[in-house]
Amino acid sequence: MRALYFDSHGEPSRLVLGERPKPRPGGGEVLVRLRTASLNHLDLFVLRGMPGIPVELPHTGGADGAGTVAEVGEGVTGWGIGDDVVLNPGLWCGTCEFCIRGEESQCVRFGIIGEHVDGTFAEYVKVPASSLAPKPAHLSWPEAGAFGLTFLTAWRMLMTRARLMAGETVLIHGIGGGVALAALVIAKRAGAIVLVTSASDAKLARARELGADHTLNYTSCDVGREVRGLAGKRGVDVIVETVGAATWNASLRSASKGGRIVTCGATTGPNPSEEVRLIFWNQLSILGSTMGSRADWRAMVGALEEWQARPVVDSVLPLEGGREAYERMASGGQFGKIVLDVSGVDSPTGQTGA
Ligand SMILES: [Zn+2]
Repeated sequence: MRALYFDSHGEPSRLVLGERPKPRPGGGEVLVRLRTASLNHLDLFVLRGMPGIPVELPHTGGADGAGTVAEVGEGVTGWGIGDDVVLNPGLWCGTCEFCIRGEESQCVRFGIIGEHVDGTFAEYVKVPASSLAPKPAHLSWPEAGAFGLTFLTAWRMLMTRARLMAGETVLIHGIGGGVALAALVIAKRAGAIVLVTSASDAKLARARELGADHTLNYTSCDVGREVRGLAGKRGVDVIVETVGAATWNASLRSASKGGRIVTCGATTGPNPSEEVRLIFWNQLSILGSTMGSRADWRAMVGALEEWQARPVVDSVLPLEGGREAYERMASGGQFGKIVLDVSGVDSPTGQTGA
């Protein structure tokens, strides 16, 4: 089958579009013929290589995908050939104490499609049947392949970890990134007042069109001071952190008394300096979050359908444009999800460059 893969770690120039063996579904597994897949920052980290996290090479990236069931393994019930599906990118063991408790993203063997196993930047992917959900009917194929990881992550951050209530204020850093945009959509639909930050006035203008109530360019203002001014000097209730070192201190200074800062990543670096006094004096809660549980996944997909909400798609490229897609992700210029259309790659005519 055709796949976008790499044999050695490095920059997007390492990516190859070529032939890899078509996976065969084992017991409890399903083979999905992908229509669309989308990039996450994770794909760049996996391509570049992460210390202490070995990846078997060659490796095909891609956590997010949508497509049609092509084969079902032994013992699979509830899914049949031809079903249109979307993938939960999480992988869990189902037997550890955390899985039994229903906290699959805390599984001691937790993994992610495209990181720990071959991913969705290919004609076919093999996944556990428990990872599937029916494709939401209101979404296009590019949208269906673009919401899994980011909406699951943002849902758990806001609804499960921070327990967001209608009428609360939410600050989201780095609008334009996938998780940040998913958080904007979810927070607005959940009835929150949303403030967003970016270094780009163009991205802030797009965020206003999507419902952001206040926008702040962090290159030209003191975010902590501005946020406190906008929020009646009380600060905001919930802060969505995906940026890390560049925004962490602004987050601490923007939080209200008893505010909750929920973090799922640190794209600008993992080691900010920290003002501990702000944490205890303002009685802040710092909440970590990774991906989501099966219950989070079901609740999130159900909410998208109920709200008829959709992810923001930055661009759709053919799988042949995979290298360009990774480069666009690396540049940070995107607003929303970069989608790969893999529906047209079914001609195994030998190797070509990506
Ligand atoms: Zn487990």
